[in-house]
Amino acid sequence: MSIIMSLNSGSSSCKAQLYQMPEEKVLCSALFERIGQSVGNITFELENAKHTDEVLLPNHKVAIEILLKLLIKHGVISSLDDISGIGHRIVHGGEKYKHSALFNAEVEADIEALIDLAPLHNPANLLGYRVMKELLPNVTQVAVFDTAFHQSMEPVSFMYPIPIEYYQKYRIRKYGFHGTSHLYVTSRARSILGEDQSRRLICCHLGNGGSLSAVKDGECVNTSMGFTPLAGIMMGTRSGDIDPSIMAYLAEKEELSAVKITDICNKKSGILGISQVSSDMRDIEEAINQGNKQAELARAMYVQRVGMTIGSYIAQLGGCDAILFTAGIGENSSIVRKLIIDSITDAFGVTLDDKKNSLRKQEIEISSVESKIKVFVIPTNEELVIAQDTYQLYSVN
Ligand code: AMP
Repeated sequence: MSIIMSLNSGSSSCKAQLYQMPEEKVLCSALFERIGQSVGNITFELENAKHTDEVLLPNHKVAIEILLKLLIKHGVISSLDDISGIGHRIVHGGEKYKHSALFNAEVEADIEALIDLAPLHNPANLLGYRVMKELLPNVTQVAVFDTAFHQSMEPVSFMYPIPIEYYQKYRIRKYGFHGTSHLYVTSRARSILGEDQSRRLICCHLGNGGSLSAVKDGECVNTSMGFTPLAGIMMGTRSGDIDPSIMAYLAEKEELSAVKITDICNKKSGILGISQVSSDMRDIEEAINQGNKQAELARAMYVQRVGMTIGSYIAQLGGCDAILFTAGIGENSSIVRKLIIDSITDAFGVTLDDKKNSLRKQEIEISSVESKIKVFVIPTNEELVIAQDTYQLYSVN
């Protein structure tokens, strides 16, 4: 038996889960929020107990030190030596990392060099690794990349039609994100349906950020996010794909820098930008129920974009065996799932069983018996993929 930690160190939060491997048993979960702010929040969950606390979390090191103390205090481990491996979520692994990798100086330097491409994420991810290395220097540490699953895309799917020198000089291409989620959800579908019945899958990861992937025989052939997570479908606060010349036009009209316009497209656009209500689909649904037309428009735009992306992936895959919904909206909003599927029913003959679609937070097939494409809700589990990869690399080393 080995104890493996999956760690997601974000800019102001840190999420950890401890697994007993190879049984894949979750021993505890911890969430540290508002790191660096005046008061931080800790949520620590054991199998049948949940503790919450407000405490000063000036930096990630303090948060991780508290985490390690809590693990011992609550008897999850008896000493820090019980931890065999730590898997770190790393958002950007560029073109080099097609699989997870054992951390060493080279991997660390590569992630550092990629900060340019993921300025919000890679520094925080790296910080989690560095703190752990300082506190637990002898523990195996593994980098699990969000981009790795999408590295199977062919140039025809990942290249942008701009002068090729920009790819050659700067590696400007589609990378795709949410890879561990797409991998987990499509792997689950393949084991539920059997490989022959799941050769062509479309995975819709619809959370605050959102992306779709087209997966053929277990390999990603296309995905909606791009060079950065700003591309693809409309999201909570992100615009997704827009005419690129809007950026220069707005920069001139509003006398703003390109960086500022990109920031607006990242943080003030999407569902929030159109509705002016919220980026959260729950608030949008409530506002629609109260007759808010902008909220209704925001949801309709969101639904249309997801539906059109599914349609384009059905074309690329030459058909589709199953459409999979996951993440916050995909797992919880039966109305959004229904609207998306309704928007493509006439084109593809896919329909839902409304009763099954109304169930929440469970792995379930929700298509009707007549549907030409199966539809599933599969709750994602990125932490498990991180723990599995970490355990695997720990075991062979
Ligand atoms: P995630 O990024 O996967 O954590 O998803 C977060 C998003 O899921 C939130 O911002 C909401 O938009 C959405 N969400 C969560 N729960 C619900 C729900 N019950 N109904 C509709 N949307 C939800």
